[in-house]
Amino acid sequence: MNIEHLVLGGERVPAANGKSFTVIEPGLGEPFAEVAEAGTEDVEQAVHTAYKAFDEGRWPRLSATERGRVLLKASTLLGERLEEIAVVEARNAGKPIRDARGEVGLAAAVFEYWGGAANKIFGETIPVQDAGLEITLREPVGVCGLITPWNFPLVIASWKIAPALACGNTVVVKPAQLTPLSVLVLADILMEAGVPPGVISVLPGPGSAIGSALVTHPLVSKVSFTGSTEVGSHIMRLCADNITRVSLELGGKAANVVFSDADLERCIDASVYAVFGNCGQDCCARSRLLVQWPIYEEFVERLTRRTAALYVGQPLDERTEVGPLISAGQRQRSLDYVTLGQEEGAQLVAGGTPGDNAGYFLQPAIFTHVENKMRIAQEEIFGPVVCVIPFESEEEAMRQANDVSYGLAGSVWTRDLGRAIRVTKGIRAGVLSVNSNHSVHTEAPFGGYKKSGFGREMGMHAVQLYTEVKSVFFSQE
Ligand code: NAD
Repeated sequence: MNIEHLVLGGERVPAANGKSFTVIEPGLGEPFAEVAEAGTEDVEQAVHTAYKAFDEGRWPRLSATERGRVLLKASTLLGERLEEIAVVEARNAGKPIRDARGEVGLAAAVFEYWGGAANKIFGETIPVQDAGLEITLREPVGVCGLITPWNFPLVIASWKIAPALACGNTVVVKPAQLTPLSVLVLADILMEAGVPPGVISVLPGPGSAIGSALVTHPLVSKVSFTGSTEVGSHIMRLCADNITRVSLELGGKAANVVFSDADLERCIDASVYAVFGNCGQDCCARSRLLVQWPIYEEFVERLTRRTAALYVGQPLDERTEVGPLISAGQRQRSLDYVTLGQEEGAQLVAGGTPGDNAGYFLQPAIFTHVENKMRIAQEEIFGPVVCVIPFESEEEAMRQANDVSYGLAGSVWTRDLGRAIRVTKGIRAGVLSVNSNHSVHTEAPFGGYKKSGFGREMGMHAVQLYTEVKSVFFSQE
């Protein structure tokens, strides 16, 4: 098997220590690729190269319009290679091919957005009391260490790389060890589009070793992390020593609140995908379905029927709606929660059984009569398991929605506009949708409250993550 090398200094190179690791295809449980395993020497080199590219290089000194053109070119190249990259992502991350195509399209849209946004990032003039002119400049922060998870490998890397580059930074990316392949291709595309050598490096490898080395490096000015709350909290501590700026997109346990006046036809269809899409491995997964008592029984019956009709299969099969989990370990974690839910007294009314082939499949599971205090309702399972929880009133719905340590996403289904406004105001989460389960929009801010992290990616809000504000006063005397 050929080794997929690191991206460092504008080219593909082997790891300094010569090591590599095997990437598994979750649909088959078999080796898919061999990838160079970066070590701390590679981190050292990549950060120094990125620092030089920032301190002396062309990229931050190009006009914003020229940087934007490079990102637009990258968007076009992503579009041209959509099918090839979608197949890689489907096989590496276990995604249904139709979803994988959508995600490559989303990544292209993100680069298109930032290609257009690059020359719309500017400061202010401020009417100060002293005689003169006060302005602010938005300047890039420097070398950005970007650490990404395995559930949306290309998309989440794009959310970080595109704004960081648009603002004139240089980046070192550490993708999840399970899914490094699409990000390596993305870096090839960026270099082909005109990103100069050293401006982007990609270092696949274990988080505990190279992720930590990246985060604690004194030449890294900004860390952007997406992953679990546990690792995010550790990274925040690591960033403290050098006062490194950090933003964290962490776990979630989103509530999908369904009132009895909701359009059930649309709601049930959307709710199934909102939790079982990406096999439940989604920080926005609506894994707590809060359903008002008058429609509870009917809702459960229709949800169960709709879920049973989902096509669970191999990622490359065009019919597949739910693929495998990412790894044997991740499936076992979900199975353990299925057991726990039954021990806690919830009723398992569908799924929860592993498939009978070598891939990491699990039939989507539905628990009813769940109480919000149960661990299956409080902890992020990150697998195809939904808890259906009944409620009486608007107040109770909001109380339950907020009664978790996370606050990333959520939805409200009702035809009553006043209620929709009251409940969205009452839920403490960063990304809400009404009569929809759609949380992610390239043009709109995305991020969490509480233990789901802080900082907003996406839309022009992301500029705040990747720029410093410099205040300059010109005396008129
Ligand atoms: P993870 O926290 O285990 O790993 C995320 C990344 O951090 C990986 O690249 C990993 O190698 C690296 N890492 C691990 N230990 C590290 C360390 N000590 N120092 C530096 N880096 C380290 O998360 P995961 O299992 O890859 O992804 C699943 C989690 O990500 C879930 O909790 C999910 O909710 C969360 N997530 C959040 C969002 C969001 O936008 N809020 C999006 C996707 C996933």
